[in-house]
Amino acid sequence: MSNLIFPFTDEHRMIRDTARDFAREKIAPIAAEFDESGEFPHETIKKMGEMGFMGIEVPEEYGGAGMDTLSYVLAEEEIAKVDAAHGVIMSVNNSLYCTGILKFGTEEQKKKYVPPVASGKAIGAYSLTEPMSGSDAGTMKSRAVRDGDSYILNGRKSWVTSGPVAEYIVVFMMTNPELHHRGVTAFLVEAGTPGFSRGKKEPKLGIRASATSELLFEDCRVPVTNRLGEEGEGFKIAMTVLDSGRIGIAAQALGIAEAAYEASVEYAREREAFGQKIGQFQGIGFKLADMKTHIEATRLLTYNAALAKQRAKTTGERFTVEAAMAKLFASETSMFVTHAAVQIHGGMGYSKELPIERYFRDAKITEIYEGTSEIQRLVIARSELGLK
Ligand SMILES: Cc1cc2nc3c(=O)[nH]c(=O)nc-3n(C[C@H](O)[C@H](O)[C@H](O)COP(=O)(O)OP(=O)(O)OC[C@H]3O[C@@H](n4cnc5c(N)ncnc54)[C@H](O)[C@@H]3O)c2cc1C
Repeated sequence: MSNLIFPFTDEHRMIRDTARDFAREKIAPIAAEFDESGEFPHETIKKMGEMGFMGIEVPEEYGGAGMDTLSYVLAEEEIAKVDAAHGVIMSVNNSLYCTGILKFGTEEQKKKYVPPVASGKAIGAYSLTEPMSGSDAGTMKSRAVRDGDSYILNGRKSWVTSGPVAEYIVVFMMTNPELHHRGVTAFLVEAGTPGFSRGKKEPKLGIRASATSELLFEDCRVPVTNRLGEEGEGFKIAMTVLDSGRIGIAAQALGIAEAAYEASVEYAREREAFGQKIGQFQGIGFKLADMKTHIEATRLLTYNAALAKQRAKTTGERFTVEAAMAKLFASETSMFVTHAAVQIHGGMGYSKELPIERYFRDAKITEIYEGTSEIQRLVIARSELGLK
């Protein structure tokens, strides 16, 4: 349990407890099996949609639960604490897909494309990365060319979370290569559109139940009405959406770390060596103390970023740095804590009989996607130095 004294509302407690109960009852029994098979957990994700977890911050008029950012973070944390793969599917639907359409979409786009995903009836995806452009997204090769009332999309996108199952995709393509990142435009693509197909599925180290794949666009024609924002506004949209996404990933990393920590405390209380509980060895006790302190610091940064985003909804202020600091610290804490948890469990930490090795594998991705730790440091340093 957290030591945090935080002014939660009844609504916050309610969503946290509901998510916790659901994760323990419905996800915990299947998490290891889906991690092993790498299958997408359609059934539990559908149930999460029915419970309102797929569009927590989305206004009710667009099919969401109409709650605040802290509610989203608390639910994401509880789901990821039991299974990080369910956590990332949830966070992409909530943050990476819905956020951009709600902020930059037309009323028609919001009405058509948000409700199916916010209600969990369909899965959404966000497709920025390409084989040759990740951190440096402005160098993307995919092209969208205007042709009358349509755009023709061509290119290969990679590493798309939920790519194999998504019905709706926000995709970023270059419309004016000479302008580099200022020449990127965002589009809404429906999976059945001719010229759209799904490429190779990625075999992964962790979050294995979250399907990841390439997406291919071959003369894929989308109407101009499916352009999200203006031409050339795509990079701004992509980065604005990532500010929200990073708060979700911070919550995911926090959940993974908490799970690994709680299991470690329990094990240190039970396991004996040299005639005493291993928790009585200072070497183990100090590890637990550091794990706990990092987790509580992560919690503060993550909840603070959630409050900063919530405030931004009325003031319009940026929360880029709050989100970057939360994501950076949370992901590194998640790696630190899960690494220590494997050590505390000794051989059992390495065994598939316990979820500790899964937590360790799952934690690593939080340092990579939605901007690597190096990119978060760049974002924070540039802001502190007043650089563009
Ligand atoms: C499981 C998974 C799911 C993903 N889901 C999605 C998704 O849904 N949608 C999507 O668009 N993308 C997704 N991604 C892509 C992810 O966001 C990128 O992998 C990530 O941004 C890093 O890009 P890259 O892999 O090309 O690495 P690179 O950009 O090639 O980086 C390689 C290394 O160089 C470092 N580096 C790069 N630039 C700098 C710099 N300026 N200073 C210091 N170090 C630097 C990086 O930090 C990294 O350590 C996913 C990736 C994975 C693995």
